[in-house]
Amino acid sequence: MNNNSLLIVLSGPSGVGKGTICKKLLSERPNIKLSISATTRSPRPEDTDGVTYYFKTEDEFKRMIENDEFMEWAVYNNKYYGTPKKAVFDQLENGYDVILEIDAQGALNLKEKYPEAVYIFIAPENTDVLYERLRTRGTESEDEIERRVKAAQWELSQKDKYDHIVINKVVDDAALDIINIINTRRNAL
Ligand code: 5GP
Repeated sequence: MNNNSLLIVLSGPSGVGKGTICKKLLSERPNIKLSISATTRSPRPEDTDGVTYYFKTEDEFKRMIENDEFMEWAVYNNKYYGTPKKAVFDQLENGYDVILEIDAQGALNLKEKYPEAVYIFIAPENTDVLYERLRTRGTESEDEIERRVKAAQWELSQKDKYDHIVINKVVDDAALDIINIINTRRNAL
């Protein structure tokens, strides 16, 4: 790993706005790259294969697990999600900071293996509003929505295990908080 490169792990419940914050960070900091995960979930209208995710069949994903291609992987909402190892290490080697936007199971597994990474939890300002938003999102079935709400409740219960908690009240402020965390960590390297 390049000595000055940082691995930044961002988690937070579904619907909290992690994606928007990541976009903001990437647009403000060309030195940050976002890791593209592999998943077995179906693409949504906003997804593009190879850009938002690498969409895989379950067999393909399991083969990647067997070949030890993941830094971490987890089952979320009955689907597999994983971080391909090689791309992340290549970017770190090339001097980029890399963000992983992953669920709390994956993040906390990773924390055992890579304690030197920066672990940031994005929390909502108001949990009831978050649950309501998840219920009315409309792109998923009732079962899926309830699973997502349960997963969000569990994710929130894990927040104290992270190095930092950032509350997403205003996206620009949350992104700035994260940039400050990154700068502080880099100065300590
Ligand atoms: P979504 O299906 O809404 O895109 O993502 C569902 C959850 O999976 C989100 O919490 C997202 O952060 C997480 N996720 C995305 N990629 C990965 C990954 O590579 N590993 C793990 N553990 N979680 C991921």
